[in-house]
Amino acid sequence: VIGVGDELLLGHTVNTNGSWIANELSSLGLEVVGQEVVGDVIGAIRGAVARGLSVGDVVVMTGGLGPTPDDLTRSAVAEHFDLPLQEDPVLVEGLRARFRARGLGELLPNNRAMALVPRGATILPNPLGAAPGLVVPDPEGRMVILLPGIPGEMKGIFSREVGPHLRGLFRSRLRPLHHRMIYTTGIPESVLAQEIGALLRDDSGHVSLAFLPDLRGVRIRLTVRGLDREEAGTHLDRLESKLEGNLAPYRYWAEGGDLAEALGSTLMSVGGTLATAESCTGGLISKRITDIPGSSRYFLGGVVAYSDEVKIRDLGVSPEVLEENGSGSGPVAEGMALGVARRMGTTVGLGVTGVAGPGGGSDEKPVGTVFFGAAVEGKVRIRKERFLGDRNAVRERAAQAAMALVLGLLEGRPE
Ligand code: ATP
Ligand code: MG
Repeated sequence: VIGVGDELLLGHTVNTNGSWIANELSSLGLEVVGQEVVGDVIGAIRGAVARGLSVGDVVVMTGGLGPTPDDLTRSAVAEHFDLPLQEDPVLVEGLRARFRARGLGELLPNNRAMALVPRGATILPNPLGAAPGLVVPDPEGRMVILLPGIPGEMKGIFSREVGPHLRGLFRSRLRPLHHRMIYTTGIPESVLAQEIGALLRDDSGHVSLAFLPDLRGVRIRLTVRGLDREEAGTHLDRLESKLEGNLAPYRYWAEGGDLAEALGSTLMSVGGTLATAESCTGGLISKRITDIPGSSRYFLGGVVAYSDEVKIRDLGVSPEVLEENGSGSGPVAEGMALGVARRMGTTVGLGVTGVAGPGGGSDEKPVGTVFFGAAVEGKVRIRKERFLGDRNAVRERAAQAAMALVLGLLEGRPE
């Protein structure tokens, strides 16, 4: 997979085409053996084509098909194969019509370049743009596929033309990948990997595991390669059920992988309603919850209670409790949760208060110390966590842990 363009080479544009295409190819069952980025220099592009064809049967290139002088991919590939570039009359007519439709008048000479095709190449129509994709075969049965750089156009052509073409061509050699994602939160990657490693020993069968951590938790990706869907499903099921016992306390189910989505589904299934009272997360939890379409069915509202005054006046936290424990404390988180649920008339209340940093830490409550209170119909659960990382990391982790606490309480998970 080759990306062409100075902007990619210099890091001004992130090479999202490369990752998208590699992902598509491996999902189809092709083995991706290399990726490269080159600048807008004809010799460099030729070199990349030659290297690509020396390791792969198919070279997919994006970028440099447009009308400007730095768009050299078409010429470089034609030179590599020593093929003449010929103007395709149908493409010229299409470009002309496009120009007219946009009120741009006559087709300019540089735009005609987009109708040039190396002799023998197949044209892949581009319904979203001017430059079509091209498939240039070589005499030994390999091929170079050229696609525009603009991600939307590239994806359109790949999905409509390239994917089906490659699937048909390599049918018997494809080894498709089957994935399953398991979402966890509240357990560090290293602990999770160790527990699962001990459980599986050498027996993960045909399934390979990847641990994908971020600030919100660890996703475990199970992959089976080269079997048909049904067989793969059996292997995935078997491994998943083997892991089930260890994962249960940390696992959640969400189509898009967002814990806020899982919390929403659970609230709906129990007919509950939620209100939030946030101090150190500053509204991040209500943002996460309302990112989910349809959240108005269970989320009534939130209060950002940053000052003690607001905690007292708007949430009914007792001044004595604040005085005695400090605003970052379990009893205050509990008071916030109970107070916001009472005032908003919800079945569930959530309170979060702590030290996001970088300042404000103490020996007793260092930066990253966060207290959570969850109240479900008056039943309260309190938790204290110490998160590492900068202000953003502490807040992200706190928002996630807060939602996990409520979810756990709603689902009757052990404390
Ligand atoms: P056009 O016909 O529109 O000129 P092109 O094939 O010539 O397209 P480029 O000019 O190389 O493509 O790139 C067009 C735009 O597409 C770039 O400005 C960039 O934003 C985006 N782009 C190009 N290559 C990539 C890539 N590998 N990943 C993500 N975006 C890309
Ligand atoms: Mg261009």
